[in-house]
Amino acid sequence: AVLFIDLDRFKVVNDSLGHMVGDQLLIATACRLKACLRPEDTVARLGGDEFVILLDNIKNINDAIDVAERLQAKLSLPFNLTGHEVFTSISTGIALSTTADRQAEDLLRDADTAMYRAKVLGKARYEVFDTEMHDSVVKLLQLENDLRRAIERQEFEVYYQPIVLVETEKITGFEALIRWQHPTRSLLNPVDFISVAEETGAIVPIGYWVLFEACRQLRTWQLEFSAQSLTMSVNLSSKQFSQPDIVEQIVHILQSTNLDAHSLKLEITESTIMENAESATAMLLQLRDLGIEIYLDDFGTGYSSLSSLHRFPVDVLKIDRSFINTINRSDEKTKIVQVIMSLAQNLGMDAIAEGIETVEQMMQMKTLQCKYGQGYLFSKPLDKNAAAALIAS
Ligand code: C2E
Ligand code: CA
Ligand code: CA
Ligand code: CA
Repeated sequence: AVLFIDLDRFKVVNDSLGHMVGDQLLIATACRLKACLRPEDTVARLGGDEFVILLDNIKNINDAIDVAERLQAKLSLPFNLTGHEVFTSISTGIALSTTADRQAEDLLRDADTAMYRAKVLGKARYEVFDTEMHDSVVKLLQLENDLRRAIERQEFEVYYQPIVLVETEKITGFEALIRWQHPTRSLLNPVDFISVAEETGAIVPIGYWVLFEACRQLRTWQLEFSAQSLTMSVNLSSKQFSQPDIVEQIVHILQSTNLDAHSLKLEITESTIMENAESATAMLLQLRDLGIEIYLDDFGTGYSSLSSLHRFPVDVLKIDRSFINTINRSDEKTKIVQVIMSLAQNLGMDAIAEGIETVEQMMQMKTLQCKYGQGYLFSKPLDKNAAAALIAS
């Protein structure tokens, strides 16, 4: 069997106490590991704070787990290094060779995969490799790989969903929503890839591309249909928003596409604001100075809705779909929407009701004096040709 071990807090310890202590911690860890093992077992340091242990002649997974538990317990005791008490813990992945022809490097990779899972599940624990784990990791790696190439291969497409005036049902603008024409799968929705793109950072170039493309498209439509007042809403992810030069990027895009700043709306969520709490206000004020309005997306689902409202310069609330689609069936949801609407009115903000699917829902929102609506009742997100046809009609 192979155990793949990674120290959970090594970087923290190393940064706060310096390299000397870091080295000592690695040596002390190796000694403790060694002390728990039989003479015929092998410990090797893989580099960084990773160790590999080869347990000779272990054929039963429970025996390997016993060893992992012993190591886990031993390593959770504090170290005393040059007068500092240092606490650490380990994450362990276990892989067992079931067949003789299983290559050593396969086993190592499987143990590494299991270790990674142990980290994800909260650290200071062990996980045993299984093939399902392997399949999901392979799938994820494949998706990451495909995502990295998708921009240069021009596989992304922007779809556009109309935002209408509830009063007249006339289109005032669109929300840009990304789609991915994956080379071997069907047209993918954001739910299939946005979270991975966010984790890997791929969302930054992807988001830039969407912003550029949506601005370019809107300017084309404004000229083509003499529709200067049409607006475009674009979703900004937290990673995008945290770039120090995001305002410059946006200014650059507006200039390149010759789009008026008042035509562009940026949709951000409360968690994006919270994750960038220190810079958010200044950033949002800069955008407002340019003439760009901020829409607070998915409003009502966040944890701090009320507190962020008066602290941050947002212009429009987008009431989350989950409130709208139950508004006729749930008194409680209806009351929440009423409260949100009066909140918006008191703060002098407009509101957009997301996910309106039925006439009843639209009538309710009309009664509540919600200015804008968006949803399948008016139109699903459309590709650029269908959206253009809708503007023309
Ligand atoms: P969102 O910003 O809340 O966008 C609205 C979502 O609700 C869209 O899903 C839209 O198709 C869907 N929707 C609109 N009306 C209705 C309705 O009446 N009924 C139902 N059931 N759904 C409706 P979509 O296009 O799948 O996008 C999902 C999410 O992915 C978006 O949620 C947004 O958070 C994210 N996303 C989409 N495009 C981008 C992008 O370019 N950048 C970033 N960062 N995120 C994006
Ligand atoms: Ca580590
Ligand atoms: Ca949105
Ligand atoms: Ca939303």
